[in-house]
This record gives sequence, C-alpha cells and structure tokens, in this order.
Amino acid sequence: MEVCSDCFQDEGLRLTAARLGTESDAPCPNCGSVAGAKLDKRGLTNLAHSFFVRGTLHRVSYGGAPVVQFNTHQRTSIRCSAWLERDVQLLETKLGVGFFHYGPRLWMVGEIEPLKALQVSEKRPEIVERILRDYPTITAETEVVFYRVRIKPDDPGSPAEYDSPPDGFTGNGRLDSPGFPVMYASPDLEVCMHECRAAAEDDTFAATLSPTRPLRLLDLTELIREEHVTEFESLDLAVHMLFLAGDHSYEISRAIAAAARDAGYDGIIYPSYFSLLRTGAIPFETSYGLSHRIIPQLVDYEKAKILPNLALFGRPIKDGTVRVRCLNRVVIQRVDYSLAFGPASVD
Ligand SMILES: [Zn+2]
Repeated sequence: MEVCSDCFQDEGLRLTAARLGTESDAPCPNCGSVAGAKLDKRGLTNLAHSFFVRGTLHRVSYGGAPVVQFNTHQRTSIRCSAWLERDVQLLETKLGVGFFHYGPRLWMVGEIEPLKALQVSEKRPEIVERILRDYPTITAETEVVFYRVRIKPDDPGSPAEYDSPPDGFTGNGRLDSPGFPVMYASPDLEVCMHECRAAAEDDTFAATLSPTRPLRLLDLTELIREEHVTEFESLDLAVHMLFLAGDHSYEISRAIAAAARDAGYDGIIYPSYFSLLRTGAIPFETSYGLSHRIIPQLVDYEKAKILPNLALFGRPIKDGTVRVRCLNRVVIQRVDYSLAFGPASVD
C-alpha cells in the first residue's frame, strides 16, 4: 500500500480514490489515516487515469480526446488549481510520472476521410453506398421483443399512440425526414427512457412490441473489420463517431436511413447515443494513440460498450409489420448516477 484516499486534497480525487481503494485497518504509510481507502501502485495509476485522462475528455463535433496525459517519460508541464498541486506532486512521486498537455492524433477529433466525405453533400452518396455494402444485414424474427416509450400520449391505452409520429411531426429525429416517418425503439428499456429524455415528473408509458414477420435490418452497431486500414481511413470509426455525435450530424444519418429504405430494408439498428451512459464505458478509447476498435483482441470489448437502438421505417403498427404485445405505465423510481471526476481547469 502506498497512499490512501485521505491523502488527497481535491474532493473529486478523494472521492475517486475512496471508490478505487480497499479498506484496511493499517494506517496509511503516507498520511497515517486508518479510515482512508488504501491504494497500491495499480490503484494509483487507475486513479490518475480516471481523473486526469478520462476526466479531461474533450468532445468535439465528431470524436474527442483527453486534454491531459501522463507517462514515465515526461515531466509535469500542466498547471492546476492550488488545491490540486500537492495531489499532483504525490502522484508524480509515487508513480514516477509526469502530467502534460496531450496532443491527440487527429483521427480522434474526426480527421477521418469517410467521415469528412459524409459531411460534404456531393461526396456523401458514395460513402453511404459503402455503408450499405459493408455493414451486415440481420433479421429480427417474430419473437424479438423491443420497447417504445412515449411521454404524455393523449390516449395511453391506444396502440396507435406508439406508432411513428404523425405527418407534421417528422423530420426532427436522427433518422426521420419530412414525409419519411421512423419509429424509434430499443430492446433496452432504459435506453428508450434516456432517448426520449423522460424525467421523474413525466407521465410516461411503454409499449412492448414484436415484429409480425421477419424484419430485414441494416446493422450499424457491428464493428466491421477493415484490412490494412488506419484510423484515418476507417469507415468503422466514421460510423461509430457519427452516431455518438449530436444533432449537427442528423443530416448525414437521415441520408443513410433514406438510402437503406430505398434499398428495401425495414429499418436500421444503430448505436445509441446514450450507450456510453448506460454501460459506463469510455468513448474513443486508445492505447498509444491506436483506436481499440481496430485492435482485433479488443473487438468484443468495444462492441459490448454499444447498445442497440432500433429504427423502423414507415408506420409499423399501422402497416401491420409490428404488433403491440403490451402497454404499461412506467414510473421512474430511482436514478443511479455513477460519477467520475476531473480537474475543473488545467493550464
Ligand atoms: Zn493517506
């Protein structure tokens, strides 16, 4: 044991150390505290990574990168708040590392050729065509169950309320366009609750749904293998970042949905924007600047971070391709926040 959670002045660092450390009756060799959770060198490394690397992740339009990194080769060159200075010195001494401003590899902040092409309307169709060709098709059989959530429907007991929105209300979502309604659903009910921003005071209802015939779906949650392709040319990373981006990206995802419909698909399975919140996973993870998504041994691990959303084209309930198995009122009873911390500012 090297140090304990009571060794730290910064509240976020102290709380993280308390979570990562282990209980021990022995006094801390550094500060003498018995009550503090004790951390060995490995725990301290995880603490430094959680606070300074994950805790400084800066999201940009597409992708994101940590502002701070640390390693054993560099001396500390960042300046932190006064209450953090001694904590940084403690980590430096115990781990033999320095903290510095991280210059990300540019693919991490969206410098990916297919992603850049998708943002230019003349170049978009070619990449959309590649997406339809390279991503797998899967079939949702009739026993598959998924959910759709509505806040304050006019008539909660009516199945029609859970269909795609009526004309005049389409064109606001990630995949629908005016005149092209899309039903959003998910096999994960909590993802549905996040996706529709349901709050405790809302009157919320959920429909349990199943297909009435096998549905042909384009699976964009798949991690596609690309031989001899760097991150800078990766279609996989382009699509991954596209679906973790905000509403500035909708024009592109709507083009993919329209092309999939024209190609005869019933819908799309795509990564939920809230995947990372639900799984607690770290976005855009790298080792030595390489994306974990292109490292074969990490493919399953990366795929487990992503939760699927389901988008079905048209009005599946009215069209009879989806049946309502059950309707329920949903009450949010308790919300668990899992909090991680980072420095408020770094110079
Ligand atoms: Zn201590």
